[in-house]
Amino acid sequence: MSNRNTTTPDHAAASAKFLLDQERANWHDQALWFIRQKRDVTARQIPDWEQLRNAASQIKQNVLANLDDYLIQFEKKALENGIKVHWAADGAEHNRIVLDIIQKHGVQKLVKSKSMLTEECHLNDFLTSNGIDVVDTDLGERIVQLAKEPPSHIVLPSIHKRKEEVGEIFHQHLGTEKGASDPAYLTESARQHLREKFLTADLAITGVNFAIAETGGLVVCTNEGNADMGVHLAKVHIACMGIEKIIPKAEHLGVFLRLLARSATGQPITTYSSHFHKPRAGQEMHLVLVDNGRSTQLGRPHFYNSLKCIRCGACINTCPVYRRSGGHSYHNTIAGPIGAILAPNADMRKNADLPFASTLCGSCTNVCPVKIDIHNQLYQWRQVLVQEGHVPKSKAQGMKVMANVLSNPRLYRVAGKSGRLMMRMMPGLANNKALNPWAKQREMPQPPKESFRDWYLKNRSEK
Ligand code: SF4
Repeated sequence: MSNRNTTTPDHAAASAKFLLDQERANWHDQALWFIRQKRDVTARQIPDWEQLRNAASQIKQNVLANLDDYLIQFEKKALENGIKVHWAADGAEHNRIVLDIIQKHGVQKLVKSKSMLTEECHLNDFLTSNGIDVVDTDLGERIVQLAKEPPSHIVLPSIHKRKEEVGEIFHQHLGTEKGASDPAYLTESARQHLREKFLTADLAITGVNFAIAETGGLVVCTNEGNADMGVHLAKVHIACMGIEKIIPKAEHLGVFLRLLARSATGQPITTYSSHFHKPRAGQEMHLVLVDNGRSTQLGRPHFYNSLKCIRCGACINTCPVYRRSGGHSYHNTIAGPIGAILAPNADMRKNADLPFASTLCGSCTNVCPVKIDIHNQLYQWRQVLVQEGHVPKSKAQGMKVMANVLSNPRLYRVAGKSGRLMMRMMPGLANNKALNPWAKQREMPQPPKESFRDWYLKNRSEK
């Protein structure tokens, strides 16, 4: 049981709330596992899948080792292409830059395609508080935006919502029929609603999946074509990217595009892989390169390679903890295993619970297309957080006691004997869920009559 300060976000407590709705927890679990299985099928269709993963990992390793050079090369090419390039040290600066561009053009309405970076910087709230009407155009993002919730998954933002709940949200905001939950009807309604937003927006914001240093161009991957639609209709395009999105050459794109969609949703490729190299005639194109803690992570020897992440979501889909606890329980823009590595870098105190939200089963590491050693990093973060004093005192003390017992054979034997005796004499105490949090969701096993050591000494050791 967690005894973290109640003002501190707590994954365990938030998960317990999610699990109160067992039916939701079950289909959430099954829906994500279905996607994981689709990923396995499409990955197996490529004989050189493991070579692709290795290549992607090595390309990204090279990028991280030479990030400064690649960024300068990329900026130079982008400027030559006529793109206006901006640099932001953090989320606040990113938001100010975007607002300045918006205000300079007198824009009141804008459309935005899915961008986890803008979520990370809380751009929507910032722009709304400055009187700007922002419309998210990815269907899943629009659903959570209308529901006034953050996305719960980086690829499937509204995966936690039932179709009936989506029907109710659309009824309230888009005027669809009360009680309607047919996905085709709801999708068509969203399409009509968004079409009007596209046609009346003056400015389009997109994220960036890959930025090519060699050409100064950007690639944005969507399944709905909403990034293209927004950019092609608006007079101004702002692309926002984290500095780690660089790849060195256009020829590397094939490696990542083959891995991304297969890992994300089990598709051979995203429906739209849109290339933006320069503003079209009469349009202005801006690019905001954002650090927001990435340089700090790059300087952490155990964690820097988390910056290889291409945000496919495969580690999230496969994670047994994520599937049973829901994305919002992670209280971080990016949920799941990769989020639990990135979040403590941003704020150790606030996110100290997240690296513990894992069974360390390693399934995340097995599926990661860029071979990030995710579960090792989660384990490593736990040690850093304990050393830095960011775990509850009771937990730190408990671990100290356990370390003493496990490192002292005599003490270990006495503790084992006392434990077995207590479980036999006072089973109610051992199974008391208030006194023994371990038993909260588990049945205590029947205690053995003797320890393995005693049995071995009796039966196997040389007399
Ligand atoms: S850590 Fe790997 S599996 Fe997880 S989202 Fe990033 S690239 Fe995908």
